[in-house]
Amino acid sequence: TTRPGRTPREVATHCPYCALQCGMTLREEETGAVTVLPRQFPTNRGGLCQKGWTAAELLDHPERLTTPLLRDPASGELRPASWDAALNRIVTGLRAVQAGPGPDAVAVFGGGGLTNEKAYALGKFARTALRTRYIDYNGRFCMSSAAAAGMRAFGVDRGLPFPLADLGSADTLLLVGANPAETMPPLVRWLTEQRQRGGKLIVVDPRLTATARQADLHLQPLPGTDLAVANALLHIALTEGWVDRDYVAARTTGFEAVRRSVAAWWPARAEALSGVPVADLEETARALGTADRVIILTARGAEQHAKGVDTVTAFVNLALALGLPGRPGSGYGCLTGQGNGQGGREHGQKADQLPGYRRIDDPAAREHVAGVWGVPAEELPGPGVPAYRLLDSLGTPDGPKALLVFGSNPVVSAPRAARIERRLRDLDLLVVADFLLSETAALADVVLPTAQWAEEDGTMTNLEGRVLRRRALREPPPGVRTDLAILADLAQRLAAKPEFPTDPYLVFDELRRASAGGPADYAGVSWERIDAADGVWWPCPTDDGPDTPRLFADRFATPDGLARFHPVEHRPAAEEVCADYPLHFTTGRVLAQYQSGTQTRRVAALRRAAPDAFVELHPDLAERLGVADGEPVRVVSRRGELRAPARLSTAIRPDTVFAPFHWGGTARANSVTNDAVDPVSGMPEFKICAVRVERVDEP
Ligand code: SF4
Repeated sequence: TTRPGRTPREVATHCPYCALQCGMTLREEETGAVTVLPRQFPTNRGGLCQKGWTAAELLDHPERLTTPLLRDPASGELRPASWDAALNRIVTGLRAVQAGPGPDAVAVFGGGGLTNEKAYALGKFARTALRTRYIDYNGRFCMSSAAAAGMRAFGVDRGLPFPLADLGSADTLLLVGANPAETMPPLVRWLTEQRQRGGKLIVVDPRLTATARQADLHLQPLPGTDLAVANALLHIALTEGWVDRDYVAARTTGFEAVRRSVAAWWPARAEALSGVPVADLEETARALGTADRVIILTARGAEQHAKGVDTVTAFVNLALALGLPGRPGSGYGCLTGQGNGQGGREHGQKADQLPGYRRIDDPAAREHVAGVWGVPAEELPGPGVPAYRLLDSLGTPDGPKALLVFGSNPVVSAPRAARIERRLRDLDLLVVADFLLSETAALADVVLPTAQWAEEDGTMTNLEGRVLRRRALREPPPGVRTDLAILADLAQRLAAKPEFPTDPYLVFDELRRASAGGPADYAGVSWERIDAADGVWWPCPTDDGPDTPRLFADRFATPDGLARFHPVEHRPAAEEVCADYPLHFTTGRVLAQYQSGTQTRRVAALRRAAPDAFVELHPDLAERLGVADGEPVRVVSRRGELRAPARLSTAIRPDTVFAPFHWGGTARANSVTNDAVDPVSGMPEFKICAVRVERVDEP
């Protein structure tokens, strides 16, 4: 990598990948080579994982897109084109599909990796320039169940309502469906510290993950039975007198219905369903019910189910009954996944939402946001539909005929992915803005090359609700534009009424005004204020008032200030095992890859560390199937199949099969997953479906 003639420079910024948003310093040498150095920041304390260390490799990657691509109608191939030609093609195509059926013939799909400014601008673009109600984003596939459960219990959704550092001082820490040792390795230092202080770490996971190996106690339930485990834990806490009656009376409502509903969840019943021994349930309940500082965290393992909201709610009920939320050093939280998983869900790229985490069907919210945008409130479209429903409607007779994708790769990341791929192929116009040719971009009619994280300023909101500054090290390469510039140009060509600034500082200023008074209030968060500290926690309503590292100390964000209990019942997975599909299938992550792998599969060191997909099988199951370690197998569900080498491991239950979802093609795990969705959050059931596994005998 050489870009001669430059002056060495450094910026303090954050990793482009996950929600831990580790602090890092980027240094550009005189040669143009970019070096990553870990930076002390309160969450990562100088640590980085492999993904962060190697993030700069993509800046000058040979596969980087540096010119727009247009699909040539004659050859069917993507060919380089000018920006003018590409943007004209988009505007012509959008006008054509909207001409008859109207604005909703176009849809927009965003991403949880977009900065706050981009997420905000994308929502505004969809609602004002395109005037479509069809916008949603890939965060729907990430933490939407925890978000919905948090909203209905606490009146607000912030992943961690307390600083991450609280983990280090917890006497008992319960992780449910979370594997930070592989997804967020620097976070593990807090877990180590917690145990060194004498704390107890309990992990609930169907696999003996790298995180579970460090635990004092590992509960290994059948996938899809976490809710029953939580209800049994509350049952035991009630029986043993560990419920905090004063807290329940003073700070919550609805407990009586929950008390009645968990009465039937005696531990032996939960053991019969989940396989978790009664003794382990009792030990867990005791550790939660008798310790002083207790934290319960959920992540995708608990949340990515068609009953994900109720599963999270069961753990929230447990936390409330024990009097944890709002107590110093205690509480319930969700470990957000994507880099801006938190901020991405606050600024209006969700189907039901306007900036500030406002509901789009709330007349006062519409008036406020329309006022900031300078458009009549009645011109704003109403709620759209959640991501999977949106993707599955594309190209159908009543569905949108054009789709604009920013920062997402649904061909790999959506459930029942082969079907979604067909839907995308059926569109009249597919536009993808990305800096690499993802599997989704490869299907597009127009591909727009975008700037990378080190080439533009902006803000991200990490898993704690802490707003951070992402700082540009260098300009984007020639031929590449920022997402904000692309949206501004398109808005102008579409004769949109509002202004679309291209300067992220100005966009953030507008975002602050749009969010003012909403649940996620950024009005007092300025770039200057972030620069002066280690970030700013929302809500932060005024310039000179405090921000909020800890929520719920005195009241919850509900109208009466009380948290809400909701009785929830276990229900079977949307698809149960049977004679033809006798095994449970679940998906997850590996340390050296990130999300759909578009970026990390192209980084040499990460490719070496995790070159291929695999299918994890228990040796007993492998023996029954006649499969040896490393032999290719086929995992078949009612929706499709994936092929990958078998990896034999006693870390998995003999009745369950696991595959990581970072790969496309024939190794695509989401060819197999179920598209049943949670009725409240729209979260698909990624974490359990029924499959069979077969040897692949042909070459
Ligand atoms: Fe980046 Fe997450 Fe790794 Fe930190 S843990 S370096 S934020 S991928």
